Amino acid sequence: MTFVQCTFCRKPFTSLGGRICPACNEQIDRDFITVREYIYENKHSNIDKIAKETEVPKQHIIHLLKEGRLIIDSVDGDGILFCEVCKKPINTGRMCKECMSKVASTIDKKTSSSSSSRPKQEHKDEPNIKGSAKIGSK
Ligand SMILES: [Zn+2]
Ligand SMILES: [Zn+2]
Repeated sequence: MTFVQCTFCRKPFTSLGGRICPACNEQIDRDFITVREYIYENKHSNIDKIAKETEVPKQHIIHLLKEGRLIIDSVDGDGILFCEVCKKPINTGRMCKECMSKVASTIDKKTSSSSSSRPKQEHKDEPNIKGSAKIGSK
């Protein structure tokens, strides 16, 4: 058994792998439903507004975003979530799609172990924000 400190309430608890205690986990599950419904009604919101109007702690919302359970249409400018690899703003998860596919192909290459010739492919100027929704302004 391992004792860890809960990320949210700082209480030590016995963990089976997670970093969030059962009490906070339950709370987050409830928050998830609240926020999901709020986002469903208010697609172009931002985290501050969601936190204020749903009374869900911002850190819970951020946690849900990082877990990939919640997706906010656009968090550009919010500066809440960034790709862990290229630091680009993202709206869910931990990595942007490009980096995720790069990681996936790296794993592919490792398993098939091709040693030489690395094709360099970069599509940097491809705009990947379609119909960017502005948030926080109307
Ligand atoms: Zn806790
Ligand atoms: Zn990235």
